[in-house]
Amino acid sequence: MLKEYLKKRKFDLPAGEAGKTPEPKPAERKKTVAKDIFVIQKHAAKNLHYDLRLEISGVLKSWAVPKGVPQKSGVKNLAIQTEDHPIEYADFEGKIPKGEYGAGTVKIWDKGNFELLDGAVEKGHLQFKLRGDKLKGVYNLIKFRKEDKKNMWLIFKTK
Ligand code: MN
Repeated sequence: MLKEYLKKRKFDLPAGEAGKTPEPKPAERKKTVAKDIFVIQKHAAKNLHYDLRLEISGVLKSWAVPKGVPQKSGVKNLAIQTEDHPIEYADFEGKIPKGEYGAGTVKIWDKGNFELLDGAVEKGHLQFKLRGDKLKGVYNLIKFRKEDKKNMWLIFKTK
């Protein structure tokens, strides 16, 4: 599931070499905490956005949310699904070098645990509970059905 993540980044260059990304290289890992995690990283790339990542099936399922994950119910924001990220990415903060994929600064905006209540990514809908410092409550991600809106979802809070 991490093939696309690896394809987009250069991990094997010597330290300090231009183009080497400071992002984590996926490692074999055993799950040490019982709870699934979520993280939202504020990513000051060419277009500022917030990356929502949910731990599902041993990877971080990921969405780029240009306007951020809503803090109140009644707001529906666009979320664009991106490639799966390794679990280690949940701790990543740093600066991705100019010219590289996702160039810009990444900062953790919120983090905590996440509980899947209903649905599945493959089904195109998810309902889940977030317990973070900033975000708490029940959220929904619903995929657009139209072919031309591939990878596009809506995220909104219900409770
Ligand atoms: Mn991003």
